[in-house]
Amino acid sequence: MIRLSIGTAARLGLINLRAETLPTTAYLLYGESCRMNCAFCPQARGAEGKAGRLGRVSWPPFPREEVIAALQREAGRGLQRICLQALCEPGGAGSLAELIRQLRGAVGLPISLSAPVHSAAEAAMFFEAGAERISIALDTATAELAARCKGGGFARRLRLLRGCARLWPGRMSTHLILGLGESEEEAARLLQLLVREGIAVGLFAFTPLKGTPLENHPPPEPASYRRLQALYYLLRLGYVAWEGLRFKEGRLVSFGIGGEELRRLLGGGEAFQTSGCPGCNRPYYNERPGGFIYNYPRPLSAAETAAALGLMQEENRQGRGSPPPGFDDINGCRFFAPWREP
Ligand code: SF4
Repeated sequence: MIRLSIGTAARLGLINLRAETLPTTAYLLYGESCRMNCAFCPQARGAEGKAGRLGRVSWPPFPREEVIAALQREAGRGLQRICLQALCEPGGAGSLAELIRQLRGAVGLPISLSAPVHSAAEAAMFFEAGAERISIALDTATAELAARCKGGGFARRLRLLRGCARLWPGRMSTHLILGLGESEEEAARLLQLLVREGIAVGLFAFTPLKGTPLENHPPPEPASYRRLQALYYLLRLGYVAWEGLRFKEGRLVSFGIGGEELRRLLGGGEAFQTSGCPGCNRPYYNERPGGFIYNYPRPLSAAETAAALGLMQEENRQGRGSPPPGFDDINGCRFFAPWREP
């Protein structure tokens, strides 16, 4: 058996589900239990959440052969990638490599592996098996937050990620969860380092989930999230540099370019779409249907882009992390004041 995100199962025609946006990547979950103890994850050793959940998403199991046949069908119909997310199971690396080999042999789609890789030798084994990209999740923006939320290991993971990025340029990804308690400056510092190393970053909004130690921690401020999405986009495309950024009490207050230029660069809305490996859109990973959309899984309308740009101007109104009341209602009706000049 292999678990699929519920949206993937719908995309592959294995269940009936009505959704506004379906995944452009097939998300597979390998493994049943995790020995890590991340404070935000329902799969953690100490979590009381349901099995078969990761993020907000549920992951029903399906027979492996059925999944492979469905992937083969969907590969010719616009599906762009397979993302194999593996839990941290003892001794699981060999069978994980075997599964990658099987998927690669049967389905003509690039495979991203998101797994607790322990060494460059292990990464080499997964690349050799057929992974196109590997994601080593940092999750937190700082070592201190990693100590609090993941039991440490930040420096080791970052060293391994950078080492692998030099060995396999352009083939490494990571995940960064915003809203765990970092300042925008701390997140920005890490983003510019990762961009410099050619590492793709999947930005996630922290989502409080029942049964986890952080179930009462608020999600990130939408304004703050929008600024960091914009920053990652601008850094990635080389439009801004770390030296030009300005921060005030940890908050990003200037990108170092003029307001007109900023509107032009962000006007297409791509900055606010889901980021990470090519073709990854992760619909509803962080969002409730009908709720605030942190990561748009599709191109934005002009009104949505205007709202996102307007939101970037906002102060963090309720202190770190908590969403201001009624922020769902702003769609399309904000006036975009020019960004503060440096
Ligand atoms: S960015 Fe998307 S495709 Fe890449 S590892 Fe993360 S979830 Fe998978």
